[in-house]
Amino acid sequence: MRSQGIIRNKTTMLMGSRFDITVVAEDESTADGFISLAENEITRIENLISSWKNDSEIGQVNLHAGVKPVQVSKEVFELVQRALLISELTDGAFDISYASMDRIWKFDGTMDGRMPTQEMIQKSISKVGYKKIILDPKKSTIYLPEKGMKIGFGAIGKGYAADKAKALMISNGVEAGIINASGDLSTWGKQPDGSDWIVGITNPVNKEKMFSWLPIIDRAIATSGNYEKKVLIEGREYSHIIDPRSGFPVGEISSVSIIAPSAEMCDALATSVFVLGVEKGLFLINQLDGVDCLIVDQNREIHLSKQLKLQNQ
Ligand code: ADP
Ligand code: MG
Repeated sequence: MRSQGIIRNKTTMLMGSRFDITVVAEDESTADGFISLAENEITRIENLISSWKNDSEIGQVNLHAGVKPVQVSKEVFELVQRALLISELTDGAFDISYASMDRIWKFDGTMDGRMPTQEMIQKSISKVGYKKIILDPKKSTIYLPEKGMKIGFGAIGKGYAADKAKALMISNGVEAGIINASGDLSTWGKQPDGSDWIVGITNPVNKEKMFSWLPIIDRAIATSGNYEKKVLIEGREYSHIIDPRSGFPVGEISSVSIIAPSAEMCDALATSVFVLGVEKGLFLINQLDGVDCLIVDQNREIHLSKQLKLQNQ
């Protein structure tokens, strides 16, 4: 359907990442109003789930690890429940309690090229394990039973924020748009000229080149492993995605893109497949209805899930 209106876009830094918010609206000032609603929504979520902020709900959960359960909002409780389902689905490859390991693997340049010792890795891995997290649905509490445990939403939070901002836009009557959280994005509706939103999948080997253009119609896409965060240790590059079972960063894969109905699911599954590797990752995705994936391995070979058809390959 062809609609009246203009496309308005704004790039802002939220949740420590670049967000591009695109909306279709009657005119520029209406669009700007919607964009600031979306920005407020993303900031609200950041203030709930950031593990950098001690006063966020998750900050409080982490602060009280080994001390006592912490009551959280329904929204945060349910996000944690869904994160634990992804852990079950991936046999622990995805694990929000990976976060205790960010005390030894730092991707901000402070590691000085030194490898953590085996002892440090063992010690920090002992604090990891989604099965240890205790949820009480009646009281809406989360309890991390051991001191030093920590949860973090680095691999699911941006997708969740994109979904929530999109839902808010739809409930405000915005008929089309894209919420793009650094490549984890969700679309709805159509462009004012009636065409679909087309999203390019970049080639991680050569960022100037696109692999393919895909119409993303009321769906989401997310990519992991575009190597924006990495650390160089003893001449080798390590990714910021960690296998919670071994305690080491993983590297068989160069990048994973997932296409699915929600950005949250895309975000979490992209990280999961990165940890699982090509074979196990494809096996998992091929069993999930309505979920597609494109993997580029370290030898620059492309692997597609069964249902995915690329254009201009
Ligand atoms: P990006 O942030 O580049 O989009 P991801 O969505 O894959 O990439 O998220 C990577 C982040 O997820 C890491 O920086 C870290 O905060 C967190 N993380 C790392 N390993 C895991 C894991 N095995 N399970 C859950 N979260 C993880
Ligand atoms: Mg992710």
